[in-house]
Amino acid sequence: MYDVKSMKADEFISHDEILETLKWADENKSDLALVDSIIAKAKLKKGLSHREASLLLACDDKERLEEIYRLAKEIKLDFYGNRIVMFAPLYLSNYCVNGCVYCPYHAKNKHIARKKLSQEDIVREVTALEDMGHKRLAIEAGEDPRNNPIEYILESIKTIYSINHVNGAIRRVNVNIAATTVENYHRLKEAGIGTYILFQETYHNESYLKLHPSGPKHDYAYHTEAMDRAMEGGIDDVGLGVLFGLELYRYELAGLLMHAEHLEAVHGVGPHTISVPRIKRADDINPDDFDNGIDDETFLKIIAVIRISVPYTGMIISTRESKSVRARALELGISQISGGSRTSVGGYAEEEEDDENSAQFDVSDNRSLDEVVRWLMELGHIPSFCTACYREGRTGDRFMSLCKSGNILNCCHPNALMTLKEYLMDYASPETKEIGEALIRKELENIPKENVRKITGERILKIENGERDFRF
Ligand code: SAM
Repeated sequence: MYDVKSMKADEFISHDEILETLKWADENKSDLALVDSIIAKAKLKKGLSHREASLLLACDDKERLEEIYRLAKEIKLDFYGNRIVMFAPLYLSNYCVNGCVYCPYHAKNKHIARKKLSQEDIVREVTALEDMGHKRLAIEAGEDPRNNPIEYILESIKTIYSINHVNGAIRRVNVNIAATTVENYHRLKEAGIGTYILFQETYHNESYLKLHPSGPKHDYAYHTEAMDRAMEGGIDDVGLGVLFGLELYRYELAGLLMHAEHLEAVHGVGPHTISVPRIKRADDINPDDFDNGIDDETFLKIIAVIRISVPYTGMIISTRESKSVRARALELGISQISGGSRTSVGGYAEEEEDDENSAQFDVSDNRSLDEVVRWLMELGHIPSFCTACYREGRTGDRFMSLCKSGNILNCCHPNALMTLKEYLMDYASPETKEIGEALIRKELENIPKENVRKITGERILKIENGERDFRF
């Protein structure tokens, strides 16, 4: 039985409700009056239900699709402006006891190089990331209670926050580790993490069990209920995602939005972010072995539908995607991207050729952070290294109210400009700096409140004179 407020995975992600949703969407996808009424509702910018979103995803009317794309872009600009938040993944350890069939870290893979960073290694990795200009990391680790216990993760977070190299500092550590207990979530919260990210991989229970044949991750309910435990443990920024390609994308979209509805209904705050990874080639993984791969057009349609369905949720795209797909996705609602990423353990400090054998997946965008930053600016976006919200206590519903109040232009916009200025001063190539300085001058004018504009201008001057880390 479907119950959005139930705490049981198979009730808040009800298989029957998803099947009925998809059937209803198929039966009504050509009812253009209904499609139009849903688009009209989406234009109110308060979101859509999983049923409404599923209908739009099923609809193949070209004109309506164009309208959805236009609206997705508008909603992105309304809620997030033209800022794009930058981050990098940091792989701590690829030891893993699970059997995930799509991931090269699965326990049966005997030829992949197993690596776990020591605290000294972490200092080297983080120093290299700071030298690139990163301020926000997402730490990644396989699940292995012996090699990667929670104490190791906590110690690593402490180490990361303690490294200040020249003007570099990691100011926000997001965490992507396996589902765990309320107590461990509480400890992560105490360690000062930003978002807790956990991809569902698939919401299809039966497929989930086959795709995760062994290890603790096999437990579908424990995995699916993880975000409730995280919130119970005090983490109020959580990041959802599915790994597209494992199951039917329409099934996944309905499940993903039901999950978001559940978090909102139970905890009063929806997901902070949604990621949209697609399966990639990796050590012993061939994406063609999976039947549900989606082409770029479908992928972009999914992104646009998510954007208009959950306007307050940030959307993340990684270097799994190519430059051209990322450019288009940015026009449809993505608000956060990684740059200069390495997906191997120790990949930032190592020589290039050394790291291939421990990578989690092949990256499709190999550009440096500087190149990505310049490219974003050339496309009219503001790369932002801002980490102010959670440091100012604006997490969970407090972040959502900032978003809903429309005050982002007086808060996030200046923060983006100030952190971009830091990047330009400390890390940018001369060409990137020139483009960035012109962008900052232009974008300063877009801060609505006069006093905020004035203070931001003054702080930018102070940054030029060597001061750092201002925020609203
Ligand atoms: N081990 C943690 C867990 O169990 O959730 C999470 C960390 S894992 C390093 C991060 C994510 O990478 C996984 O949740 C999965 O969705 C994704 N991933 C695994 N194999 C992949 C592949 N071949 N291509 C693309 N993404 C992959």
